[in-house]
Amino acid sequence: MQVYDALIVGGGLAGSLAAIHLAEKGLRVCLFEKEKAPHHKVCGEYLSEEACYYLEEVGFDFDFAQSPLIDDFSFHAPKVSLQQKLQRKARGISRFLLDQFLLDKAESLGVQVLLGERVKAYKREKEYYLIEGKNQKVLAPLLLLATGKHDLPKLHRRVGKERDLVGFKVHMDLTPAHQQKLENSIELFSFEGGYGGLSPIEEGRFNLCFLLEKKKLKDHSLTHSWELLQSYLSERNRVLADRLRMSQKRMDRPVTISGVPYGHMLEPSKVPTGVFLLGDQAAVIPSFTGEGMSIALLSARMATDLIVSHKFSPSASHKYHDYLARILKGRMSLALPIHSLMRGPLASIVGHSIKWVPGVVPFLFEKTRCPEAYYWRTMG
Ligand SMILES: Cc1cc2nc3c(=O)[nH]c(=O)nc-3n(C[C@H](O)[C@H](O)[C@H](O)COP(=O)(O)OP(=O)(O)OC[C@H]3O[C@@H](n4cnc5c(N)ncnc54)[C@H](O)[C@@H]3O)c2cc1C
Repeated sequence: MQVYDALIVGGGLAGSLAAIHLAEKGLRVCLFEKEKAPHHKVCGEYLSEEACYYLEEVGFDFDFAQSPLIDDFSFHAPKVSLQQKLQRKARGISRFLLDQFLLDKAESLGVQVLLGERVKAYKREKEYYLIEGKNQKVLAPLLLLATGKHDLPKLHRRVGKERDLVGFKVHMDLTPAHQQKLENSIELFSFEGGYGGLSPIEEGRFNLCFLLEKKKLKDHSLTHSWELLQSYLSERNRVLADRLRMSQKRMDRPVTISGVPYGHMLEPSKVPTGVFLLGDQAAVIPSFTGEGMSIALLSARMATDLIVSHKFSPSASHKYHDYLARILKGRMSLALPIHSLMRGPLASIVGHSIKWVPGVVPFLFEKTRCPEAYYWRTMG
């Protein structure tokens, strides 16, 4: 039996960033990741300024990774388009590259990274948490759960407000003309039954990521063919049709995710002492109307800072969950209604109204962000 200071389940953004910060403070950390190798994840791959801040802090170099700057935003509903300059510059980068960077960095700092290890459950043994891996049992007084949208199979399932959407992601090459025109833009599209985004990532590629109701997929038999799916989207949004025409898919098939518990929010009083819920395990904010990656990174930074400032005491978990819930509550209550509007028939009407009040878009961007200033203020 191997004893560590902290166990982390999940090697995505939140888990790996937490591992890095704890290892930098000299803690012995063991991280379990169910996948055997780097993989693509369903994500818009749009990183806000604050998300970039947490990554630059641990040495990620956006320019070196050829990650484009994004300073332009457009929204295209079926009958209306609007465009705005972004007040804060964002970045586009693939999760494949980003997650791999963080995991490698954690390993280089001495974290025991166990790949291909799907954790099914954990047990409490006196003052320790115990996880049984394939080949070994490990123990630690601190347990950080960072399994994203997936729950540990043998523990309770989180309840979100909306689970009826399927998420898709595909990397593509646009035509040279579109590539040039959109190299610094994020475009959001709404269409019957869903919405999504198109934005640039490294090496001149673009990421198309969208959500579509399961019912539409079934009714239109869209599950087996990218071509059919592409036609469905093109017929329902003419600007998206223009972007997709002559584009080339850069992945064999889109990656997908379903059953995302949008709207899930942690309940601090229900989390056992010494367990820290990070990232999507703590809250699942609707995609594109909130910043899941920013929350994941902020949660990792906040949890590890509190662990250190509480001299590695498991009791830090209570303060952590209280702080995080306080920061996320307002953001969640704004992101959920915007998400419902985006996927519904009112998207064009809302787009028209917003067009006449240009301050609304920057206001919404500001209110759904998780600025690092909040972090520092909350942490005193
Ligand atoms: C359609 C869509 C679009 C999005 N677009 C954006 C966007 O543009 N910008 C943004 O900021 N956010 C976006 N998000 C949200 C963002 O992707 C997530 O909030 C973020 O990935 C959460 O990070 P995480 O570390 O909590 O989880 P993840 O990054 O999902 O990592 C979880 C890790 O845990 C591993 N794991 C799971 N179960 C187990 C287990 N039992 N044992 C061991 N390992 C396990 C997984 O393999 C994975 O590597 C989007 C989400 C969706 C669905």
